[in-house]
Amino acid sequence: MEERVLREISRLDSFPAYVYDLPGLAEHAARIRAEFPHEIFYAAKANPDPEILRALHPHVDGFEVASGGELQHVHRAVPGARLAFGGPGKTDEELALAVRLGVERIHVESVRELAHLPGADVLLRANLPFGVDGAALAMSGPFGMDELELRRCLSLLPDDIRLRGFHAHLASGLDVEELLKVQRQVVEWAAEFAPEEVNLGGGMAVDYGDPLWRFDWKSYAAGIPDVPFRLRIEPGRAMTAYHGWYVTDVLDVKRTRGETYAILRGGTHHLRTPVTKGHDQPFTVFGDRGHSGTATLVGQLCTPKDVFASRVPVRNLAPGSVVAFDMAGAYAWNISHHDFLMHPHPAFHYVT
Ligand SMILES: *Cc1c(COP(=O)(O)O)cnc(C)c1O
Repeated sequence: MEERVLREISRLDSFPAYVYDLPGLAEHAARIRAEFPHEIFYAAKANPDPEILRALHPHVDGFEVASGGELQHVHRAVPGARLAFGGPGKTDEELALAVRLGVERIHVESVRELAHLPGADVLLRANLPFGVDGAALAMSGPFGMDELELRRCLSLLPDDIRLRGFHAHLASGLDVEELLKVQRQVVEWAAEFAPEEVNLGGGMAVDYGDPLWRFDWKSYAAGIPDVPFRLRIEPGRAMTAYHGWYVTDVLDVKRTRGETYAILRGGTHHLRTPVTKGHDQPFTVFGDRGHSGTATLVGQLCTPKDVFASRVPVRNLAPGSVVAFDMAGAYAWNISHHDFLMHPHPAFHYVT
């Protein structure tokens, strides 16, 4: 953990809290920018905090939004930023808003959407059958259009819509080789249509079991084939996961049926990530006495699912110890069910 983050954590006077390291995030994004020579749109749904968006803004080409709410929010938070609007089930009002705001690209998910996009620049979202075995989440199902439906969409394309190419976000949580395997197939498939551009989506892995591991952007960039059209990606998790912490204190430590539990203020309604992904959230304990050995870290919710980390090695856990959960910068606060049990919301702190 960077000195500036430790200092911010040591200054916290109430828990739970979120701490975001904005200089660290900017540096991380700048490195990705330097190593990846194609367009990068940050997928705002990973973490749409306005400070995060503003820290990323100088280091990305634009932002991908997935709802009318995100569209308005990002439009306001980073005025003038280039935007792409995707996502299934867009309402007529959302499509009209995107047209009115002059969103640069709209990712069309179905033939129905075509009727609501006069004057728009669009990518057709493809649902392609490419192997995504290693994926944490395969984005097939209702997303985009299969080959038949894409051809129907192409044949029905109104004159007042500019078709720029295709979009394919086929999986999440992939390592370099797995991601390249899928994306090479996408690129090869798309080349037949001679598009102006192809958006390859996001899905770059992070490893919650190894907070120091990083997706290898250089090897990824090197593995992307040379193509006569523009390429764009939309990373979310791998962009923002590393620069947020959920910090809270221990209320109680107890043994029940041979197991040690540390009960922390707050819970997974503030940091849902370990529950949704089924991992132990990595953490650091700040304390100088108390239980060392193995423990299960839980929150205050009245459900056995409120577990941050299960039977993990710990040192110095006692009431009053502070626990900072790492890798809480993406799909953390904003995917959590904040109001379950009506605990106070965490305060947000920004290292600047
Ligand atoms: C969620 C999403 C992303 C970002 O995915 P990550 O796994 O966070 O990189 C990109 N594009 C689309 C269409 C998405 O739905």
